[in-house]
Amino acid sequence: MGASHTQVNCLFCKIIAKQIPATVVNETDEYIAIRDINPQAPTHVLILPKTHVGDVTEVESRETLGLLLEAAVAVAKAENLADGFRLVVNTGLLAGQSVFHLHIHLMGGRVMHWPPG
Ligand code: 5GP
Ligand code: ZN
Repeated sequence: MGASHTQVNCLFCKIIAKQIPATVVNETDEYIAIRDINPQAPTHVLILPKTHVGDVTEVESRETLGLLLEAAVAVAKAENLADGFRLVVNTGLLAGQSVFHLHIHLMGGRVMHWPPG
């Protein structure tokens, strides 16, 4: 991915560029999966597209949506979460989004309650 796909001052773009360290779980040309710095479950991984997109409403290709979900499922399998896991995409301030670079939360390893609050 070239520089035009990154946004200056975006935390996750800096992680993707390896300017800020993160624990990488999996990585391809299209996405990176990292452990959340403040895990809310025994397994808490973030799956991010390498091209900067602010949130899910800005995604322009079905392929991007598909590959991110596929990646999340692959990480869930690799993390032995066959008994259940949760995928979350916080979108906008009301949903509690705090980093404005699209990411899927993958959480598992404990009972996930509903409603989520
Ligand atoms: P959001 O609130 O936008 O849905 O999720 C952002 C997530 O990024 C939070 O769960 C938060 O813990 C995580 N996070 C924030 N800063 C960092 C960081 O520097 N490294 C990693 N690995 N995760 C981060
Ligand atoms: Zn970014």
